[in-house]
Amino acid sequence: MTDRPSFRERIREGLKRTRDVLNTPVEDLVRGLEGPGQDLARVLQTPVEDVVRGRRLLDAGDLGAVEEALIAADLGMPAVEEALEVLRERSAEIARGGLPAMRALLREEIRKAVDRPRPVEPFSSRPWVVFVVGVNGVGKTTTIGKLAAGWKGEGRTALLCAADTFRAAAAEQLAIWAERSGSPFHRGAEGTDPSAVLTDALRAARSRGYDAVLVDTAGRLHTKGNLMAELAKMARVAAREVPGAPHETLLVLDATVGSNGLAQGREFARAAGVTGLVLTKLDGTAKGGIAVAVVRELGVPIRYVGVGESLEDLVPFDAAAFAEGLIG
Ligand code: GDP
Repeated sequence: MTDRPSFRERIREGLKRTRDVLNTPVEDLVRGLEGPGQDLARVLQTPVEDVVRGRRLLDAGDLGAVEEALIAADLGMPAVEEALEVLRERSAEIARGGLPAMRALLREEIRKAVDRPRPVEPFSSRPWVVFVVGVNGVGKTTTIGKLAAGWKGEGRTALLCAADTFRAAAAEQLAIWAERSGSPFHRGAEGTDPSAVLTDALRAARSRGYDAVLVDTAGRLHTKGNLMAELAKMARVAAREVPGAPHETLLVLDATVGSNGLAQGREFARAAGVTGLVLTKLDGTAKGGIAVAVVRELGVPIRYVGVGESLEDLVPFDAAAFAEGLIG
């Protein structure tokens, strides 16, 4: 979470692969070249240059190419259909303004689709308690380490609490991130009740005056029902120790799994009171459009995106920068 290079550049860089997928058919269209999904004969008959120069309206073939690109980027059908509707309705405007006008319309559609008000102001109470939830391997521990490091840089101390007591490796991993980010760390003995570990961590944070507690939770128990019940119990325990806690529950989703992440998301969102999303591994995917699908589906804002594996590779989400990164 450093400001060099800028957030905008980091998001842009993270979305490069998605942008390429999205732009290739559109660029091909403009150049009138034979490309993926392109019919050269059609392109030759209706030179797309004409669209760009404002000499003709977008036709069904042009819209088909855009649709294909949006689907490939994993925006999800409802969002794709809405975007196409806008392009159809404003076809005259695109005919006048060419490709830049079309890009601007798509950018604005995507910005609107991912822009959600942030429900709470971070650090409005102390300690600020954040639960981090999601299935194993999505990047929960890494995200906690990056968040703690970023806050540290702003002069805030976060206690890292290992509440996944089912996997010893999880606590060890979190201890490494605590060390890397220069943050205090709390864990319990293996197999301890996660709520008991959490209680101790919250008491320690209160008595030492820490600014925040970042709670790493289990990604998997014997059954999903158990996991959701465990998270609910932890939330009750947190509220008893610190008024209003957990102040945020961040659901971490791995962007590389694309729309498969949606099903996981729905479940956590329903059972765990998710207030925000963290979309990780945006750097390793061409499916960055999944951000649009998850926000639509879960109705909560994306708070951060992960764009790499090191400490500074977490950026606060910005809808306008995201839309720009996706469309170019
Ligand atoms: P957890 O099981 O949910 O706690 O997941 P981890 O935090 O252990 O992360 C799983 C793997 O994903 C690790 O190899 C991380 O380095 C990697 N990872 C996490 N976030 C990102 C990201 O934003 N970009 C990339 N490329 N890798 C990430």
